[in-house]
Amino acid sequence: MNPFINLGIRHDIVNAISELGFENPTPIQEQSIPVLLTGSNDFVGLAQTGTGKTAAFGLPLLELLDFEENHPQALILCPTRELCLQITNDIKNYSKKMGNVNVVAVYGGASISDQLRQIKRGVQIVVATPGRMLDIINRKAIDFSQVKFVVLDEADEMLNMGFQEDIDSILSTTPDTKKTWLFSATMPTEVRRIAKKYMNEPFELTMGTKNTGNANIEHEYYIVRARDKYAAFKRIVDFNPDIFGIVFCRTKIETQDIAEALLKDGYNADSLHGDLSQQQRDKVMKRYRDRSLQLLIATDVAARGIDVNDVTHVINYSLPDEVENYTHRSGRTARAGKTGVSISIINAKELGKIRQIERGLGKKFVKAEIPTGFDVCEKQLFSIVHKIHDVQVNEQQIEQYLPRIMEEFKDLTKEDFIKRFASIEFNRFLDYYKNAPDLNAPLEEGRRFERDGERAPRGEAGKSEYTRLFINLGSVDEFNRGDLLGYICNQSKISGRTVGKIDVKGVYSFFEVPNADVEKVTAGFNGAEFKGRPVRIEISGEGSSERREGGGGGGYQRREGGYNRERSGGGERREGGYKGGDRNGSAGGGFRDFSGKRKEDRPERRRRF
Ligand code: AMP
Repeated sequence: MNPFINLGIRHDIVNAISELGFENPTPIQEQSIPVLLTGSNDFVGLAQTGTGKTAAFGLPLLELLDFEENHPQALILCPTRELCLQITNDIKNYSKKMGNVNVVAVYGGASISDQLRQIKRGVQIVVATPGRMLDIINRKAIDFSQVKFVVLDEADEMLNMGFQEDIDSILSTTPDTKKTWLFSATMPTEVRRIAKKYMNEPFELTMGTKNTGNANIEHEYYIVRARDKYAAFKRIVDFNPDIFGIVFCRTKIETQDIAEALLKDGYNADSLHGDLSQQQRDKVMKRYRDRSLQLLIATDVAARGIDVNDVTHVINYSLPDEVENYTHRSGRTARAGKTGVSISIINAKELGKIRQIERGLGKKFVKAEIPTGFDVCEKQLFSIVHKIHDVQVNEQQIEQYLPRIMEEFKDLTKEDFIKRFASIEFNRFLDYYKNAPDLNAPLEEGRRFERDGERAPRGEAGKSEYTRLFINLGSVDEFNRGDLLGYICNQSKISGRTVGKIDVKGVYSFFEVPNADVEKVTAGFNGAEFKGRPVRIEISGEGSSERREGGGGGGYQRREGGYNRERSGGGERREGGYKGGDRNGSAGGGFRDFSGKRKEDRPERRRRF
């Protein structure tokens, strides 16, 4: 038996929600539906969005209202137009196998006459944002005298947005006999107060503890220097090739600046803030929902009510002032039972704020380290490898070219071919990150040392006496540490005992040699080839990166921009992207607008193959 039937939901509704993929009730549905179905209680549910709370109140409403009658019987108030449309749509979906269920969405920024017309035709369920609802009430265009249920959804948000008075006025037009169901992600005192004001001994249900975010969200923070924040942010994004995220900033200007910088740097991002017209906001949101945008850069206010499933990461580019806002931000991920990560990029001085949020949430944050350049490269490499592996081949289309392709590749072994294929996108990351600096800000000297020590076990003295070198050979060339050591010594005629730590990565490696031997090693590799490929040795590590950063104000950022211009310049970037890449049939249809780049790449590729 379908578990929703056991909860008391009738077959035609259960059939409809089964088609939506609801197989089992979520915890809030399991606990609230039996209570709400009695229709005799006021109710307070402390629950995040994304927990299935729309169905938690929507299904009981469909059971309790009389759809033979065509007058308003339920009023659902919510803070934003997006949420209003979402709830309306959800209820229409749940009731699509029932007859004569009329739901109207009432919200600002759209034609009021259409909404008035729908109300006039007869509705049982009104889903509304407070401002427009009050407008319609003031026009005496709706009669709430027979309302049986009022739902206050995201009550904390409605109060945050200053709707208290509007809510008071709207509720005063509904009968005293109605039942009120309040849902809120957090329970600040203002919400407590309205719960007290509008309700009579409500049944209280808390999913998780007070103000606790969704248990499926991991909270991480990264400590960086203020000047490295943008670079660190980009590195986190690069380390998560399949990220589909919302990035929170504190001001409109900041959202715009970040979105513009990201676009310039070849990322697929756009901003959402209060200065946009409703039409512009809708457009951005549609692109995000459709996943033709990968990163949505938003202010708290603009992001309210955003209900997009599958958001993998919330990134707090700037921390919010209030714990409540943090809860709302992080609640945009890990929806519908999925998992998600909420990341905060902070400077050392903001650690106190993190502790404050931890206390508020009752949850420990994990201190994470900004990935190194080679961590990113490795991650990207395997992302490309997986994409190549999983790409859908259009057998019919490609068949005619196969003989020619085979002919072109006939001198390559399978291994050589695979290496080359994976290197097409990967080399870009490699070039960009090979000298990437450590972006983790020192917390305190001792701690810092420990980390450096992990990487270079020789300790402080060793560190200053050794230089870390990059070599463009790695495990894909069948080198392990011993092989590489032998190869280095043989090539540069230095003693194996003097070589420090060796890090063999995929298509490249790092090794340390005494400062005094650097010249000998680079000279030894001068003109060297490995299986017909030139071998490159370069100085890596902090020394070189600091030199790079030192080149005048914003030098590093310019370089980042420069790199990206190089790899993805051109306006097409804005249009393509995430999905666009896939649509274009690209193997690496990842988040970057590789499709834009590909256009530029094509002549080069043709040359290469
Ligand atoms: P909500 O908290 O109502 O915004 O719901 C978040 C998401 O979870 C929506 O996309 C719902 O369609 C989905 N959802 C709600 N209840 C269930 C369920 N029982 N099984 C699967 N998905 C659900």
